[in-house]
Amino acid sequence: MVENVSEKSEVVSKNFIEMIIEKDLAEGAYDEIVTRFPPEPNGYLHIGHAKSILLNSGLAKKYNGKWNLRFDDTNPTKERTEFVQSITEDVEWLTGEKKENIFYASNYFDQMYEAAVKLIKKGKAFVCELNAEQMREYRGTLTEPGKNSPYRDRSIEENLRLFEEMKEGKYPDGSMVLRAKIDMSSPNINMRDPIIYRVARMTHHNTGDKWCIYPMYDFAHPIEDAIEGVTHSICTLEFEDHRPLYDWVVRETEWEHPPKQIEFAKLYLQNVITGKRYIKKLVEDGIVDGWDDPRLVSIAALRRRGFTPESLKMFMELCGVSKSQSSVDYAMLEYCIREDLKLKRSRVMAVLDPIKLVITNYPEGQMEYHDVVNNQENEELGSRKVPFGRELYIDRDDFMIEPPKKYFRLFPGNEVRLMNAYFVKCEEYITDETGKVTEIHCTYDPETKCGSGFTGRKVKGTIHWVEATTAVPATVRLYENIVDEEKGAYDEEGNVNVNPNSLQVLENCWLEPSLKGAKAYDSFQFVRQGYFCVDSKDSSDERLVFNRIVSLKSSYKPV
Ligand code: ATP
Ligand code: MG
Repeated sequence: MVENVSEKSEVVSKNFIEMIIEKDLAEGAYDEIVTRFPPEPNGYLHIGHAKSILLNSGLAKKYNGKWNLRFDDTNPTKERTEFVQSITEDVEWLTGEKKENIFYASNYFDQMYEAAVKLIKKGKAFVCELNAEQMREYRGTLTEPGKNSPYRDRSIEENLRLFEEMKEGKYPDGSMVLRAKIDMSSPNINMRDPIIYRVARMTHHNTGDKWCIYPMYDFAHPIEDAIEGVTHSICTLEFEDHRPLYDWVVRETEWEHPPKQIEFAKLYLQNVITGKRYIKKLVEDGIVDGWDDPRLVSIAALRRRGFTPESLKMFMELCGVSKSQSSVDYAMLEYCIREDLKLKRSRVMAVLDPIKLVITNYPEGQMEYHDVVNNQENEELGSRKVPFGRELYIDRDDFMIEPPKKYFRLFPGNEVRLMNAYFVKCEEYITDETGKVTEIHCTYDPETKCGSGFTGRKVKGTIHWVEATTAVPATVRLYENIVDEEKGAYDEEGNVNVNPNSLQVLENCWLEPSLKGAKAYDSFQFVRQGYFCVDSKDSSDERLVFNRIVSLKSSYKPV
């Protein structure tokens, strides 16, 4: 399937953004394309941002262009330097590129100021003193045109003086704004003399207290793009109505090679929480252990859970890029990680809910080592030695005292294959005072060694196991969706409907010894169970902690 997906992306028709770019290149509109990913450093990136990152970096790669990582840090109240660090890490991990040159919108404040002065000089901007409420009144509605501000016809000289004084700090916060002079009767409210600068005394993480006026997003963003020589400024659909203003700004501030804005539909996953407000609340309420809790879909959480950049790329390819809003099933993301890891990872044995199994006819104190292939579908992963002895652990699920029909695993009198080893037959079992099985006694048949060419009787069940004296203890965490899918993502008050079973911690697991020393982010298939990844925060050499990435069962079928 891995091959299929990439094959598909080559034969499948191009997405609409690729068609625009190819037309522009064919017409010689640009020598090379430049895109950008422009996060606001006000939170961690989530899977939706991953789509934008992979789209922008992918287009640059495909058309031999460039893409910039630019922090859109023009709004100092909400920004924090810590996010610059985490966002950079996430972007580099996802794209596999080290970004030598990182851009900051705040480095362009001087040029933005100059651009605003240019507008004033052209008679295209004015200083307005309407207060917020008056501003609303004058703006009009969707059905009624707005009214011109009484300050709209100030002279250019007066506007220049007032704007400079705004910058020098002569006026209190909120008392004056600079507005573009466009059209108060435009059917598009964004074009009704939008504010482009406001007075606000805020310390900026990059420029400190140098500025007490800050540009508005709709004015700043096109200028940032133009300064960097961005050719295709790709954003999400909610900015479609802002495009006329984007075009107005780049035209009126007179750039030789103006960028153009293209909108696509956001990625939306069903029953998944991406909103900062909700995640913050889950963190504060102690329901998750941080922004990178493996049940979340921040990029940091997906990485911690064990997702790979390749699996996320595959996912984005399957989702496609379009203009129509739709939502995607989480099962498709699970499908992608399974497909990605299938041939890349070793398949090892791990017992998550152990019962001791004693082979009564196996010599005490003896141990043998079996050669086991790491991945039957990919020889390149080689093989390893797995110890076998008299005492093993098997999973509780694989034994029943009174089995139902079609249960082919272990039960009194039944014989099964121990994976990669011998046939064993259950002779008896021991229970504690509550009736819980504590030990199973079996005999083994030395003739039935796996790979020995044994052609005698057959058994219907094969179960996994680990040798007890060499097994490595571990904690394993199983996850379900953090959202209670039956109830839906949010309740009436807008709180997340938390699934009470979203986290199950198994403290008493045993792993085969080849897993000793596994390091953060290492991942494996635990045979018959799923893919698991070493937790980057809680695991140590003394105590391994694994997160289940995904089980082996799939509900998603690609079309
Ligand atoms: P949120 O509020 O969900 O954190 P945002 O849009 O406020 O998202 P920004 O930092 O402004 O976050 O976004 C950076 C870029 O990521 C923007 O170009 C934005 O369009 C894009 N983006 C954000 N969410 C999605 C999504 N769900 N799908 C695709 N692109 C997205
Ligand atoms: Mg934002």
